[in-house]
Formats: sequence, C-alpha cells, structure tokens
Amino acid sequence: MSLWIFAFGLSLLLMLNVDVETGVQSMPQSIVERFIFQDREFFVKRDDLIDPLFSGNKYRKLYSLIHCPAAQYQAIISYGGTQSNAMLSIAALCQRKGWQFHYTTKTVPERIKAAPDGNLALALKLGMQLHSVDHADYQHVVEALHSDTKASHLLLPQGAADPIAEAGIAQLAQEIRQWQGQNAVQKLHLITPSGTGTTAFYLARALPDADVLSTACVGDKAYLISQMSHLGAIPENLHMLENNKKKFHFAKPYPELLSIYHDLKQAGIEFDLLYGCPMWFALLQHAHNITGTILYVHSGGLPGNETMLARYRHKGFMQPD
Ligand SMILES: *Cc1c(COP(=O)(O)O)cnc(C)c1O
Repeated sequence: MSLWIFAFGLSLLLMLNVDVETGVQSMPQSIVERFIFQDREFFVKRDDLIDPLFSGNKYRKLYSLIHCPAAQYQAIISYGGTQSNAMLSIAALCQRKGWQFHYTTKTVPERIKAAPDGNLALALKLGMQLHSVDHADYQHVVEALHSDTKASHLLLPQGAADPIAEAGIAQLAQEIRQWQGQNAVQKLHLITPSGTGTTAFYLARALPDADVLSTACVGDKAYLISQMSHLGAIPENLHMLENNKKKFHFAKPYPELLSIYHDLKQAGIEFDLLYGCPMWFALLQHAHNITGTILYVHSGGLPGNETMLARYRHKGFMQPD
C-alpha cells in the first residue's frame, strides 16, 4: 500500500517536472509556439515573454545573479552604449536586489541628458548611476574598471559577455531538450542572433547534438569570433549564417529591416529591430538549405523598439502615427 502511495507521489512529482532530488520545480520559463512565416513552419521559444525588463536572453544571462542572495554583492559595475538592452536588464536586477548600479558610457549629448528616452530613461528610473567619460578616455576608464577588485562589487563586461551567463543558458538548453523530447524532434536547428555571441556560444556548448545557427549583428563575423573565443574554444556545432544581400551597420535604420519587422509582426510575433530582424533577414536567405525542425530562440529586446521606430519615423521610412 505505502509503495503505491510512493509510486503515485513520484509520478505526480515527475508530471510537475519537479526535480526529485532537490524538490525544486523546474517548469519551463517560456513557451514554444508554432510560427508560420513565408509559407514555412518555424517554432519560436518565447523568451521575450519571460519578463518585460529582463528581456529574452538577458534573463538567461543574468539568471544566476537573479537567483543569488542579495547579500552577495553591493554593486554591479558595467559599461557600454546608452540604449543597451543589457544595461536595462542589469538596472532591473539591481533595483530588485537593492544593489547599486554604476554604468559607464562615452559622453552623452546634452540634449539626451536633459531628456533621456527609451532604455536609458527606464534604467535611470530604476536607479542606475550613469558615468559618462570623454571618448578619448573611455578605453582607459574601462580597463581601470576591470581591475577594481572589491569583492562586494561585480564587474560585468559589456553585454554581460561573461562566464556567469553559462548557468542560465544551460537552463534554457534544458527546456529546449525537454521540448525536443516531448515532440520527438530528430534534427534540431536553433536560431538566435549574436551581439557578443555569449548566448549562441553557451547554447551550442550545452546542446552538442543540435545545430546552433546565428548571425553577427554587431560588427562582422571575425569580430564576433574573436569576442567568443574569450569564453573558450568555439563549439563545432555553432555556425554563422552570412547575410549576402545587404550589409547592415549595427543600430542603423534600414528599410529592409523595417519591412521584415512588419511582416513578422503581421504573422503574429514582434521581434526587435537590432538583432531579431537582421537574424531573420539572414535566416530567410538560408532556410531552404536547412532540413529538419527550426526553433528560433527569441532573444527579446522589445523595449528598445520604441526608440528605433522613432528613428525610422524621423528618417521618413514610415508614416508618423
Ligand atoms: C543582447 C541581445 C542579443 C545578443 O546577445 P549575445 O549573447 O551578446 O550574443 C541578441 N538579441 C537581443 C534582443 C539582445 O538584447
């Protein structure tokens, strides 16, 4: 009798995805949706829906910090661009933990200082302390930040390109493995765009049987590879899809990207203009050569669309609404 109760209890735990050893429930953090685009079937891992501020892959990259005890740090130090998605997510993290957040950027123009918008406005509201330094001094200041050795201060490199990201991306990989098993997917191709390449790198490492296909959105492929090699040897199942149709400079408006943005949104899912749209632009050039299931890992970034769309309007690429 007691054996039956035990067996019943165990199967209930397994049904609820509870880790039998730790008792911790491991429900997937995001859903997978079927997505038909340009007459082809894709699946999308909706990491963009996890949290409006920790959008997409930043939730995964900051996962171990989100779950670490607040007493572990007093402050996070980071640096990069003034509309960075990583900046916004770190600001949200620090606000929730009661940590200070010191963020260094190159000189911010007076008119932006007077009326910050987009991610910068949100991050400042969350308590981020902005330190702007002259272009000429920036590199030097960033190097000095890296040698700040206070144990209560954590330095996160630009874009949170840090081994601290591995644990959260391993959790993402675990959810993908579970979905793959439940749906009996044989050959899996994972798509996700790259800035620093940290997400694609750790995803490929955690899922050696899947192909991870990415594209370089910031700088070129050589730059991306040099960035990723700071994390270790590049996994063999990680490949870069070349965009052969048009050269994009990061964060500039292009009618081609706006057009794909509208088409994707029309088809049911909004993607960000800086990473998601160039990724789809490259993916569609190669999709006919990819056999098997394609799972696109939505990397988030939607809060940044507001300022980008404003720039598109300003350029006259779309009707003001
Ligand atoms: C930060 C970001 C990326 C790039 O992630 P990496 O791990 O740096 O390659 C991709 N997409 C979105 C929307 C992002 O905000």
